[in-house]
Amino acid sequence: MTDSKKYGFTTTILHSDRQKPIEHGSLHKPIHISVTFGYRDARELASVFQGKQPGYRYGRQGNPTVSALEDKVTKMEQGLATICFSTGMAAIGALVQGLLRKGDHVVSSSFLFGNTNSLWQTANALGIDVSMVDATDVKNVEAALTPATRLVFVETIANPRTQVADLKRIGQLCRDRGILYVVDNTMTSPYLFRPRMVGASLVVNALTKSIGGHGNALGGSLTDTGLYDWNKFPNIYDSYKRYASSQWGMAQIRAKSLRDFGGTLGPEAAHHIAVGAETMALRMERECANALALAQMLEADERVAAVYYPGLPSHPQHKLAKELFGAFGSLFSFELNDKIDCFDYLNRLKLAIPASNLGDTRTLVIPVAHTIFYEMGADRRASMGIAESLIRVSVGIEDTADLLEDFQQALAV
Ligand SMILES: *Cc1c(COP(=O)(O)O)cnc(C)c1O
Repeated sequence: MTDSKKYGFTTTILHSDRQKPIEHGSLHKPIHISVTFGYRDARELASVFQGKQPGYRYGRQGNPTVSALEDKVTKMEQGLATICFSTGMAAIGALVQGLLRKGDHVVSSSFLFGNTNSLWQTANALGIDVSMVDATDVKNVEAALTPATRLVFVETIANPRTQVADLKRIGQLCRDRGILYVVDNTMTSPYLFRPRMVGASLVVNALTKSIGGHGNALGGSLTDTGLYDWNKFPNIYDSYKRYASSQWGMAQIRAKSLRDFGGTLGPEAAHHIAVGAETMALRMERECANALALAQMLEADERVAAVYYPGLPSHPQHKLAKELFGAFGSLFSFELNDKIDCFDYLNRLKLAIPASNLGDTRTLVIPVAHTIFYEMGADRRASMGIAESLIRVSVGIEDTADLLEDFQQALAV
């Protein structure tokens, strides 16, 4: 496989490792468990440490198995470079650790993964001002900007209520103002959407979810799309300015976040995620089809009060989602009418498993307000559009008819 030819999404992932010399012709990038890397010559060791020569120093900052996964994610996102972390939250936390300072301001979508919401509260307590806005309309983002705004953060499709951010217009706004635009692509995955297309500067992926896809490894990543001019970012330390300016952001994040906070992805997890990624396109196709079928069936049933899925014409951002993503993801949420208790419904399901992951091969269900969004309290939940009876469904790759039957039979009281 040559670099110059553009192959399709899955071909590119499958053959990514072999673009570099690979030990013994191994088809998988080997799992390198060594924590450190010995050099024959002390001067060579010094020049690796000084960044004058490529090479690995210590496993906290980089490992060949993890680098191979970073290359794959970079190709999926058509970006410039990627850094992997131990979890998706470590990747998002790296933004705070590596790029922000006391007195800075962040504008974030208020429709967020619960732990990201909690992370912004922590950032607030550390002296970083965070404005939470309804990001389905760029006007709200624009109104919140201040001269101290360093970063705008949105999710593509919000977890769990599936609001779709005004991705393109926010991208244009950030470009006009020279503000770093960070898009969490977890819910769409790079198979459905490349945030680079809407001008994202950095892309977050929770590798734990659709990319790894089997619920057997945690991981996260940040990808630099190459679109942002780091000369415009006031928080770059002088030590990282010895590189070309296109590398400043990643160099600083690798040192200040990954090296100094140590949220490192292990090589075994990187291997599991890399194997999972090979079938992401196949899984996503099936999961999206299953999710659409289930959402349509539930919406048509009078015992269901509301279904939230961007693939339904009733969804407020259906047209936008169709234009941006093509398919609508593997996650939807719904509310039953008040005659059916959501716990009783979940207990009648025979296939779907009560559990809190998403992007797994198996269908998982969770009563949101009582679990993952419990800690934040009823007021914050209400402001995020999360009803107390909301059920989130992460749709797996089971046979469609089996899923439809399961969700249907559980409606009968
Ligand atoms: C799960 C998730 C994360 C965090 O990923 P972890 O690997 O669980 O830390 C971040 N953002 C979104 C949208 C997620 O769904």
